[in-house]
Amino acid sequence: MEMKQVSDHCFAVLNEKNRVCDANSGLINLGGGVVIDTQSDLPHARQMIELFSKVWPAMPKRVINTHEDGDHVWGNQLFVGAEIIAHRSVPERMKHVANPEETQKLLHGVADGPTRQTLEAMHPGVAAAGLQLLEDYNLDGVELVLPTTLFDTRYELDLDGTEVHLIYVGPCHQVGDTIIHVPKERVVFAGDVLFRQCTPMGWTGSYEKWFQCIDLLVELNPEVIVAGHGPLCGIEGATEMKAYLQYVRDESKKCFEAELTSLDAAKRIEFGPYGEWRAPARLYMNVERAYRELRNDPPDAPWDTPATFDAIYQVAKAKGIEVEY
Ligand SMILES: [Zn+2]
Repeated sequence: MEMKQVSDHCFAVLNEKNRVCDANSGLINLGGGVVIDTQSDLPHARQMIELFSKVWPAMPKRVINTHEDGDHVWGNQLFVGAEIIAHRSVPERMKHVANPEETQKLLHGVADGPTRQTLEAMHPGVAAAGLQLLEDYNLDGVELVLPTTLFDTRYELDLDGTEVHLIYVGPCHQVGDTIIHVPKERVVFAGDVLFRQCTPMGWTGSYEKWFQCIDLLVELNPEVIVAGHGPLCGIEGATEMKAYLQYVRDESKKCFEAELTSLDAAKRIEFGPYGEWRAPARLYMNVERAYRELRNDPPDAPWDTPATFDAIYQVAKAKGIEVEY
């Protein structure tokens, strides 16, 4: 984990491995201090707080959660007394998608030989994802702390004269997707609307909405974008990810018309230049999303998470690449 200064008053903490759960956090060291996203477990959250304390020694007054996923909210409890801000949908969604118990159980399960073997036989993808997480994460002690200041479309902060705009853009990757724009510093904290140098994973939302949101990122014309995952970038990060999503949607459509399953489609679609990104087999999720739209499924149709992790595993095996999430 390293801290980078992004502009005069904006900072980012980045997890270099850039695999699932390696989410970034942000800090604006004005107006009492604002932290954006709180990491995936308490050790990472503590490390993030220590790094940020070099440029903001006090406990930050505010936390923003860019959306409801666990890797962005599981450090919330360490910000005792802070105001936690998020889109109105987030607290209810968090209870379901960011319940730490499930992941805690998985990590304990894969750490135990016999349980791991049973899981490997039933759900090889889930076991592989659990083992990968176990290398870096320990969710013991994580308790869900929900946001309390909620907004619908837009929320503005004035930090000692520097405006900060929270703009609701969901659902594109998740229901609560919010981007944080600091116009004076030409910085956007994009949350998981943007994945950089790793394959995007989207859960709830549509391609159309995601494209609109990427276009908005470009229109805001920031000098630096802090992605939810991956290194810092400029607007080229947004246009490259849009090109990827367009490519996957187009290829998926061809496979859908040829009546392939989404899993077979993901095995067949070439990674192309995107094979360089982390965890390319996460392609499966983007194919499945395209299929959902082609089938006219609702954007909030639930995911079978174990089956999804198993499908990513199968795609990686079929392509002869390392299984990685
Ligand atoms: Zn994330």
